Amino acid sequence: MATMNVLLDSIENTAATAPDAPAFRSAEESATTYSQMWHNACAIARGLASVPGHGPVLVLGPKHALTVECLLACLMSGHAYVPLDVELPPKRFTDIACQISGATLLAACDVPDALAGVLSGADVLDARELLAAHTTAEPLPREMWVTGEQTQYIIFTSGSTGRPKGIEVTENDVANFRRWLADFPIVREGGRVFLDQAHYSFDLSEFELVGALTTGGCLHAVDASELADYRRLFADLGNSGIEVWVSTPSFADACLADPSFSATLLPHLRLFLFCGEALHHTTAAKLRERFPGAIVANTYGPTESTVAVTYCEVTDEMLADPAPLPVGRPRQGTELAIVDHAAGAPVAPGQTGEVIIRGDTVALDYYENPEKTAEAFFETSLADGTKTRGYRTGDLGFIDEDGLLHVQGRLDSLVKLNGFRIELGEVEGALEEIPRVRHAVVVPATRAGRVTSLCAFVVVGPDAATGPDATVGPAVAAGQDATGQDATGASATRPGTANVDAFATARSLKAELAMSLPAYMVPRQIRILDEMPLNANGKADRKALAARVSR
Ligand code: AMP
Repeated sequence: MATMNVLLDSIENTAATAPDAPAFRSAEESATTYSQMWHNACAIARGLASVPGHGPVLVLGPKHALTVECLLACLMSGHAYVPLDVELPPKRFTDIACQISGATLLAACDVPDALAGVLSGADVLDARELLAAHTTAEPLPREMWVTGEQTQYIIFTSGSTGRPKGIEVTENDVANFRRWLADFPIVREGGRVFLDQAHYSFDLSEFELVGALTTGGCLHAVDASELADYRRLFADLGNSGIEVWVSTPSFADACLADPSFSATLLPHLRLFLFCGEALHHTTAAKLRERFPGAIVANTYGPTESTVAVTYCEVTDEMLADPAPLPVGRPRQGTELAIVDHAAGAPVAPGQTGEVIIRGDTVALDYYENPEKTAEAFFETSLADGTKTRGYRTGDLGFIDEDGLLHVQGRLDSLVKLNGFRIELGEVEGALEEIPRVRHAVVVPATRAGRVTSLCAFVVVGPDAATGPDATVGPAVAAGQDATGQDATGASATRPGTANVDAFATARSLKAELAMSLPAYMVPRQIRILDEMPLNANGKADRKALAARVSR
């Protein structure tokens, strides 16, 4: 039988051949088998069949098997899914829901009161009621399933204008992405247990949804409440049997802060898959030390090209080189070009320019946003003449002699300070080349819309204690920071040994930075944090840091 939808076909197949194999589990839920997941998806899909047309369906739910079943039910009944996190503030929720005319909301949980208030006019279906009303496990006819160039999902991501942009990813995109992912080491063995940590409203979660559920594997879900309670999280991880870890590097950093995060806690872990932000040496090196039997792999890609398009394994050679880690080589089906952003022409080999992605996982468009679509997406062809889509990433990077892509920052994080042009990523990179710096984020301080100075937020590693003249005591509590005001020596923001030490660290970092950067690029303020705040996406929370910058 021809494949209609790679996710549905694979799950149906495993439900038939290994019905009792676990598909989903968490600390709160006992395992949902493939047979149960398929049965429930079919039942919910029958309930959804009454939704008129083929418009996208908003799916509201936590990290729960029922939420996954809702996503599958959408696909089976011919609707793209739009995953939404229950934790969304009402404003964000409205901003998304308003863009989908006549939206139906499929809820895998109680709709929070705050959201119920903004839902007037939308059709709300409760998945639990649909399950109770439709007891048949018969799938809907395959002709109804989402397939080919139809939209599989729309993931909303923040837009530069403040209104979230919906990225429409087709079933073909997912099938092509899956062909690559299913051949990754460990994943290709089939039946592996994947960490399922990113919420389904972030495309990182497609790594594990597609990776696990199309290879007979199991999702081990970690929900928001666990992430807020590391003791619970670690107890759960210890019982999880996770073999494939998918997360942002920041989440791994947060886990690494606890010395028990090691192969003793996770003895089956054999592959770390990172995506979404730069993977730093310190993170990769620590993981390799604490998980000697695991591969640490870096991948790169935007939601606009279905999760990720490059892959490489971090080697000893890469770790011995202080240069930032590469993000990998493109997958088969993707071609990368590095172009001059203004002229659009390719730059010389090895030179830095904007990263352009062409290939069979590039998304369809920004949902009902022709203007933004035209700015970023274009029709093109591959080297062999195959027609395909292209996407301008806005990322800066270069391809080295070994064909590895290196990502160096964003075109849009370029700032002008007193007429000088500064890439914030470059300042961060310079800070992170200082051995005791674990993570650095630089944000501009602005007044009346103009950048007036830079502020660096820095997390230093334990070897700070052995640094030339600074130690940062553990007494700098979470959320507090100490400030080195300027090179001529202002005092720490609060009295106390920890702050004095942090101030000394900040000052010495500044002195070291001044040795590698022109003076105008050295941040006026360096603030030492004991941990980097993360946003819901698991990345460093630049917005929260910007709010802390004094003007
Ligand atoms: P998102 O659409 O949320 O996945 O964000 C995509 C963006 O994250 C890319 O355009 C890059 O700017 C950044 N990104 C993704 N993966 C990496 C990586 N491995 N290293 C550095 N930046 C990355």
